[in-house]
Amino acid sequence: MSDYIKVTLDESEIPTQWYNIIPDLSEPPPPPLHPGTHQPIGPDDLAPLFPMGLILQEVSQDSYIDIPGPVMDVYKRWRPSPLYRARALEKALDTPAKIFYKYEGGSPAGSHKPNTAVAQAYYNAQEGVTKLTTETGAGQWGSALAFACAQFGLECEVWQVAISFDQKPYRKTMMETWGATVHSSPSNLTEAGRKILAMDPNSPGSLGIAISEAVEAAVGDESTKYALGSVLSHVLLHQTVIGEEALLQLAKVGETPDLLVGCTGGGSNFAGLSFPFLREKMAGKMNPTVRCVEPASCPSLTKGEFRYDFGDTIGMTPLVKMHTLGHDFVPDPIHAGGLRYHGMSPLVSHIYELGLVEAEAINQTECFAAGVQFARTEGILPAPEPTHALAAAVREAKRCKETGEEKVILTALCGHGHFDLTAYEAYLSGRLVDYDYPDEKVAAAMKNVPVVAG
Ligand SMILES: *Cc1c(COP(=O)(O)O)cnc(C)c1O
Repeated sequence: MSDYIKVTLDESEIPTQWYNIIPDLSEPPPPPLHPGTHQPIGPDDLAPLFPMGLILQEVSQDSYIDIPGPVMDVYKRWRPSPLYRARALEKALDTPAKIFYKYEGGSPAGSHKPNTAVAQAYYNAQEGVTKLTTETGAGQWGSALAFACAQFGLECEVWQVAISFDQKPYRKTMMETWGATVHSSPSNLTEAGRKILAMDPNSPGSLGIAISEAVEAAVGDESTKYALGSVLSHVLLHQTVIGEEALLQLAKVGETPDLLVGCTGGGSNFAGLSFPFLREKMAGKMNPTVRCVEPASCPSLTKGEFRYDFGDTIGMTPLVKMHTLGHDFVPDPIHAGGLRYHGMSPLVSHIYELGLVEAEAINQTECFAAGVQFARTEGILPAPEPTHALAAAVREAKRCKETGEEKVILTALCGHGHFDLTAYEAYLSGRLVDYDYPDEKVAAAMKNVPVVAG
């Protein structure tokens, strides 16, 4: 037991329910608002976009929701996912800290995203939907949804942010292999795309723009709905299977975490790992510090404002209260990793406001340095996103070396980086530079964010 490397669970130990943190919070998160009237929206307002099964989860007050059998059967191909003790990294850092990582890169698409993609495809198929549209940035979400749609016989149409469409051709091929259709965004296929192209024919695209396109394509067709890979509460819900498994795995080796660190783009892998631990913390059973780590070049939690904003660039989605850099945010092209969305999940933003979690922003060269050190010690080549969490874990492990504290650190290694080698190449050849998103840009973007009374 004392020299284990990998903590596994039996198939029968996969949690059978997702955990909904909302009923356990001291205050509910602020409601989404109608973009025109600024009144709280109801389930019917979301019906053109999502199936009722998912809408009801979005607003659910139940603490636990059963994972449907057909979803569980797909999960079982790669779940339970392993929890590793990073002994080789600990040794290289000469730290008394214990570093654990929950590895989600073993899924077919190579990240945690299939945990929700499979669930979303299932509920849509159940309600007779025949096609899903979506956006993808780095390509992880588009791949996950393409895979999930293939499982349940759905068509899948993906708008991929232009800059990554050009930089990551193999993600496109992967999506097409699973049967999806992929467009570079902004495209000429939607009014939203044409509007952006008219302003900037060479637009590198952004997640906000691609969301506008995918949403427009879904609302125009009865049997088509839209799927989002992060940000929304039902997405975070589906990811809690990660944290529930990690709780069981740490208990098996008799450990409780002192620090949880997770990278945050829209917040889903972070929430998936941390919400079950926050439940235990709120119940007084453990007391870990829980920290979000975001890129210094897209710092929605640490520099964005907490206010109502659109989820997309054109302004077609409901207004949601979240930490935002402004819906017209376009990431700087020097930013190599994922995590490039202008907003943070409203639920993660709310929990941050309640003081349940903290946040820090780290520059990309430090993140890639941690990613390379991780690859050379533990062997797994991490996706650029979780290198943010690894950099934070390395910082903490170094602090522990100074203080002699034997802290238990837990992180989600939410995906592998086999499709992100261009970014690694840039780092290894010294071409990657840091970029702190300027406060002035946030202030300027806030001028375009709608003013909501109250
Ligand atoms: C999509 C993705 C992210 C960012 O999304 P979150 O919702 O914040 O998890 C992070 N890591 C990987 C590997 C991803 O695919």
